[in-house]
Amino acid sequence: MERSCERALELGLPAIAFTEHADWALVHNGQHSVDIDGYLDAVERCRARFKNLRIQTGVELGEPHWYPRETAEVLSAGPLDRVHGSIHCIRLDGGMLDASQFRSREGLDFPAAVREYFRETLAMVESGQPFETLAHLDYPKRYWREGLAPYREADYKEQIRAILSAAARTGRVLEVNTTRGSTLCPDIEVVRWWRELGGQAISFGSDAHQPDRVGAGFEVAAQMVESAGFKPAKDPTALWRR
Ligand SMILES: [Zn+2]
Repeated sequence: MERSCERALELGLPAIAFTEHADWALVHNGQHSVDIDGYLDAVERCRARFKNLRIQTGVELGEPHWYPRETAEVLSAGPLDRVHGSIHCIRLDGGMLDASQFRSREGLDFPAAVREYFRETLAMVESGQPFETLAHLDYPKRYWREGLAPYREADYKEQIRAILSAAARTGRVLEVNTTRGSTLCPDIEVVRWWRELGGQAISFGSDAHQPDRVGAGFEVAAQMVESAGFKPAKDPTALWRR
């Protein structure tokens, strides 16, 4: 975290937000959920050390509608600046599978798994779980299986638009995630739909995970979001609105 703060200052960023993973669907080796008190202590240490940087707190709740008790517990630790909701996993054959594992699962009907991913995303948005921002809406496209027809929003249009409508209706913010500078997630077609369906606001995330990726891809993302009809805010940490 300290190296990420240093990197943010190097880049001239006015602020950084650490949206720590709060995952309870543990599907990767060594994966564990957030230690929220330890996390908040670490933020305080960074704030004490980097006085010229605004450091925002946050969590990315993974599948919060599957874990309402754990979600409430994490959120009760104190007010957080950013609360994201995201889907990484679908339920499959009595277990859970992260979309990053779709391509290596033998016999998996990949497009059907992607449809299940979007179905789960809609369920999360409609669940009433208290998250503000819908994170990396089309996450499975990051891990597309080679040899498959390329990902196209149009192939999942109905499901994506249903998610966006539900998110707009419930006052959510849509995140444009740059995947550490490699892929806009979602890209312009979805952001245009978001505006058309009544979406009010956009937030940006680099999903950096590593200090050298902080803010990666923000210039391209900002251009895309602006051309889709959202305007920059005066406060650089504020949401962009229509
Ligand atoms: Zn995520």
